[in-house]
Amino acid sequence: MSAIDPRLLEILVCPLCKGPLVYRREAGELLCRGDRLGFPVKDGIPVMLEEDARKLPPEEEIG
Ligand SMILES: [Zn+2]
Repeated sequence: MSAIDPRLLEILVCPLCKGPLVYRREAGELLCRGDRLGFPVKDGIPVMLEEDARKLPPEEEIG
């Protein structure tokens, strides 16, 4: 699995709330704490679309 370019990661924000994202490299996901959404990362490219995002279950912690 290819990682996101760190420079890209620095400028990425949540498309909904414009808040910071948490990058989970192992899961290949970018998580928004505020919206509790997980955006998939495909081949190192973040897919910042609400319709493609995973809704995080309430018990899932965002670290
Ligand atoms: Zn958000």
